[in-house]
Amino acid sequence: MASAMARAGRVDTVTLVAVTKNHPVEDMIEAASCGVTDVGENRVKEGTDKQKAFPDNKLKWHLIGHLQTNKVKQAVAHFDLIHSVDSQHLLAAIDKEAEKIGKVQDILLQVNVAREESKTGAAVEEFPKLCCLAKEAQHVRVCGFMCMAPNFENVEETRPVFRIAKALYDDMKGKFPDGQVRYLSMGMTHDFEIAIEEGANIVRVGTAIFGPRNY
Ligand SMILES: *Cc1c(COP(=O)(O)O)cnc(C)c1O
Repeated sequence: MASAMARAGRVDTVTLVAVTKNHPVEDMIEAASCGVTDVGENRVKEGTDKQKAFPDNKLKWHLIGHLQTNKVKQAVAHFDLIHSVDSQHLLAAIDKEAEKIGKVQDILLQVNVAREESKTGAAVEEFPKLCCLAKEAQHVRVCGFMCMAPNFENVEETRPVFRIAKALYDDMKGKFPDGQVRYLSMGMTHDFEIAIEEGANIVRVGTAIFGPRNY
C-alpha cells in the first residue's frame, strides 16, 4: 500500500479493510493485535456472530457483500459502514430500519462501473438518480463510492475501470454537502495497488492477509 501511494505521490491516508469472511475469529483477533482497525464481512449473519467475540468492540465493521432486504434490519443494527447499496429499494429499506433505531446509517453507493452482467452494483445510468434519492433519505448518510473491477488476467486492465470510478466519485462530491463524500472503496488482493494509484482511499483485502478461503 505504501509503495503504491509513493508511486502516485499521495500523502493522504488509505484505510485497509481486512476482509475476514470465511476466516475464524482467532485470525481476526490476531489481525487486530497487529494493528488492523477495520474489518469487512460479506454476510450479515457471519459478521454479527463474529461481533460477539469482541465485547469491547473497537473495530470498525464494514459490510461489503450484496445485501438482501430481509437482512437490512440486522445490517443496520450491527455495521458501521455498508458498502453495497446499489438500488432504490435497498436504500429505502435501510432508511426505514435506521429510523426505527434512531441511527443515521453510513453507506457507500456501489456502482457496476465495468458493466459486468454477472455483478451487483447499480447501473452507471441509475447512479445520478440513486444519489438524488439518497440525499432525501434522512437516516442514511452517503459517504462515498464503491466498485469492483473485473478479474482481469492482466491486472493493468483494471486501471481504466478505476479511473472512471474516480471520476464518478469526484463528481459525486459536488452533489452532497461539503466533506460528506470522502470514501472511494476499490481494490482487492489482486488489484489494490492499481486502485490506490488511481485514487482509492479504502481497499478491501482478504486473501493477501489471511490466505485462501475455504468454502
Ligand atoms: C471477498 C471480497 C473482497 C476481498 O477479496 P480478496 O481477493 O480476498 O482480497 C473484497 N471486496 C469484496 C466485495 C469481496 O466480496
